[in-house]
Amino acid sequence: MACSLGLGEKFTDGALLEQLALVAKDAAALHGVIMRTKEDPNSSEVVNYAPFTLFPTPIPKPVFEQARLVQKDFNLLVDMVSRDSTFLEQALASTIIVDNFTARLFKIYRHVLQEGASSPINLGLNRSDYMLHCGENGITSLKQIEINTIAASFGGLASQLPAVHRHILKVAGIHDVHVMENTTVAVLAHGIEKAWSIYGSDRAVVMFLVEETQMNIFDQRLLEHELWNQNVPVIRRKFEDVTEKGYLDGEKRLFLDGHEVAVVYYRYGYMPQQYTEKNWEARLMMERSRAVKCPDIAGHLAGTKKVQQELSRPGILERFFPDNPDAVSRIRSTFAGLYSLDQGDEGDRALAMALRDPDMFVLKPQREGGGNNIYGEEICHVLNEVKDRPERSVYILMDKITPLPISNCILRRGSPLKLQTCLSELGIFGVYVRQGTEMVLNECAGHLLRTKSSEFADGGVAAGVAALDNPYFT
Ligand code: ADP
Ligand code: MG
Ligand code: MG
Repeated sequence: MACSLGLGEKFTDGALLEQLALVAKDAAALHGVIMRTKEDPNSSEVVNYAPFTLFPTPIPKPVFEQARLVQKDFNLLVDMVSRDSTFLEQALASTIIVDNFTARLFKIYRHVLQEGASSPINLGLNRSDYMLHCGENGITSLKQIEINTIAASFGGLASQLPAVHRHILKVAGIHDVHVMENTTVAVLAHGIEKAWSIYGSDRAVVMFLVEETQMNIFDQRLLEHELWNQNVPVIRRKFEDVTEKGYLDGEKRLFLDGHEVAVVYYRYGYMPQQYTEKNWEARLMMERSRAVKCPDIAGHLAGTKKVQQELSRPGILERFFPDNPDAVSRIRSTFAGLYSLDQGDEGDRALAMALRDPDMFVLKPQREGGGNNIYGEEICHVLNEVKDRPERSVYILMDKITPLPISNCILRRGSPLKLQTCLSELGIFGVYVRQGTEMVLNECAGHLLRTKSSEFADGGVAAGVAALDNPYFT
C-alpha cells in the first residue's frame, strides 16, 4: 500500500485556516468533544474543547480493515492469557523481581488465584494501538504499539468526533472525503450491559472507579449515558470511597453506599502514583469480590509490555491458538520486533543491538499513560547504567516504528494555529464477555485515531501531546 499525504497540504492560506479553526472549535463544543480545564479539573462550570485535529487523516482502507479484523483475535488472546497462570507466572517472573508496581499487582493476582475466582463473568474492554509503519519501499504496514487492557480511554469523545470533521470538511469545500461513523461508545456500553445483566440483579450498579483529577470526565459521561439509556445504573466512586465505605458480604458481594456493585469499571489504578496503601487494600477487596471486574487483575497483567514481548516469542501464539493458524498469522503480522532484556545471552544480544543503533529502537518500562518511554541516546545512557544488574528486566526493547508524516493543524487551547508535520496512531477498541468457559460476546467496538506533532516521540491526549482525529480512506 503506497503512503499518501494529508488534507493540510491543500491549505496554505493562514487566514482561511484561522476561519476554519473557529468553526471547528464551535463544532467541537456543539458535539461534546470537550474536556474540563487544567485550572479547574473537577468542575464543569467552564469547559474547553478537547485537543483535536483540524482535518481528518488519510489511512489506506485495507490496513484499517486489517486492524478491525484482528481485534477479535486480540480479544481472545487477552482472555486466554489472563486465564493462563503458568504463562503469566513465567512471562512476568523476571519483571516482578525488579518492578515494584508489577510485583504489587502480581501479589493481588496470586492472592485471588489461591482463594479461587469469585466471579464466573469476565468483561474486557481493550484498545489495541497501531502505527502504520512506512517502509523504505513506500509500503505501509500495520504494526502494534501496545494493547491497553485497563482504562483504555477516549472511546466516548472519539464517537462524537466524526460529526465535527464532517462539518469542517463541508465548510472547507472538501466534498470527496468521507468520515465514517464511530460506534465505539455504543458497543462498549453493550459489553458492560451484557456483563451487568448476566450478574443478574436489576438494582445492582456499574461502578466507574475514577481518578482524583477528572479532566476527561465527558469521555466517561458519554459511556455512562449509554448505560443509563439501557437502564443500567451507574455510580462514580474513587478509591477512597471504596476504602471508607465498601465491604464484602458473606458471599463476597461488593457493597458501597447501599449499592450492590455488579461491575467495577476501572478508569484509574493503572499507574504506581495512583496507589496509596489504602488504595491497594481497596483494589484487593474489589478483586476478591463477586463483582465483574473490567479488567480483573489477570486482565490488567495481560496488558503489560513484558507480556506483549513474551507473546512475540516463536511458538507462543501457537500455544494459545493451536487450531487456528489464521488467527496466529493475523496477530503475528502486526508485531514489530520485540526483545527481552533479561540477563543472559539473548538479553545481552538485544542490549548490544540497542547500544549500537539506539535510534532504531524504543526502550519501554512497565508503565502506562504516555511519556514513560526512552529514545535515542538516552537509551544508551539507561542501558549502560543497568546492564550488569537484574534491573534491566524493568524494560523491554522494541523496534521503532516510523509512520509517514502528514501535514495537519492541531487545535489545542493556548497553542498557536499552524500547519505541522504530524504522526498518527490508530487504536481499535475491543470488547468481550465470558461466562464460565463460554465467550458470550466478542466484538470490535470502534476506533480512535490520535495525531501528534512529529516533534514529540511519546505522549497521549491526556498528557497534552496528542490530539483526537478521524481516519478517512484512501
Ligand atoms: P503507554 O502505555 O504509555 O501509552 P506506549 O507503548 O503506547 O505506552 O507508548 C507511548 C507512545 O510512544 C506511543 O503512543 C507512541 O507515540 C510512542 N511509541 C511507543 N512505541 C513505539 C514504537 N515502537 N515506535 C515508535 N513510537 C512508539
Ligand atoms: Mg498503554
Ligand atoms: Mg499507548
